Amino acid sequence: MADINTASIVAGRVYLVGAGPGDPELLTLRAVKLLQKADVIVYDHLVSPAVLDFVSPQAERIYAGKRRNEHTMRQEQINALLVKLALQGKQVVRLKGGDPFIFGRGGEELQTLAVHGVAFEVVPGVTAASGVSSYAGIPLTHRDYAQCCMFVTGHLKDGSADLDWPSLVRLNQTVVIYMGLGGLPEICRQLIAHGAAPDLPIAVVQDGSIATQKVVTGTLQDMPEKVLLAKLKSPCLTIIGDVVKLHQELSWYTPVQGASAN
Ligand code: SAH
Repeated sequence: MADINTASIVAGRVYLVGAGPGDPELLTLRAVKLLQKADVIVYDHLVSPAVLDFVSPQAERIYAGKRRNEHTMRQEQINALLVKLALQGKQVVRLKGGDPFIFGRGGEELQTLAVHGVAFEVVPGVTAASGVSSYAGIPLTHRDYAQCCMFVTGHLKDGSADLDWPSLVRLNQTVVIYMGLGGLPEICRQLIAHGAAPDLPIAVVQDGSIATQKVVTGTLQDMPEKVLLAKLKSPCLTIIGDVVKLHQELSWYTPVQGASAN
């Protein structure tokens, strides 16, 4: 007979799982297996509804938010929740968009679990840089254009992005910017001010890998205006560098016409 004592000795565990950029076909096999056996799923705003279709109907679902400017649960509350659920003996899936270790604060969540002696595992996911660029037909490296690729966050603090601009304007590299939509005009301005060519190609991809995907290409100079005209909405990934020239030739994914973003 299950009572509080037996429940407390059942080992709970937290699985930090990457959900990929949106298309559920990009989930790993391990992620799907865990979604089907977990007792509870704690998921972020970036996790696409189609991915949640793989969650067992018996599992409890807890939305942890994290939309920009709408932190439904503060990070400390999420950390405490994961510890609490695991100590109740539950098998918890902490589901995050993309890869949990890339701009996902997965490391912070695991540190709290480690402090409390909670067992955990990590399941990598396809990060936006990789998944979104693939669905946009933009290879991040190419022998003719880029031998190196950087992932940076464009999230602005007090209106300015605290980035190492000289390192971002080097030749023969691709720069991928996560969370950079709001700060795009400032980012383009700073790159040009630090020596990047005003006609350097840039792409902004909204909703990569799902039906509402939109790809807007341009140059550092004209992109801020193009993004406004296209009325792009978050999440958007920015790709800067000569590899963007390949988009026209290599674009293969056809999003569903007329699909509306959720
Ligand atoms: N851990 C995630 C990134 C979280 S930061 C990962 O590995 O992908 C959130 C940012 O990721 C968004 O602001 C956006 O820049 C990018 N992003 C995630 N999914 C995306 C998608 N489907 N399309 C475009 N950008 C996406």
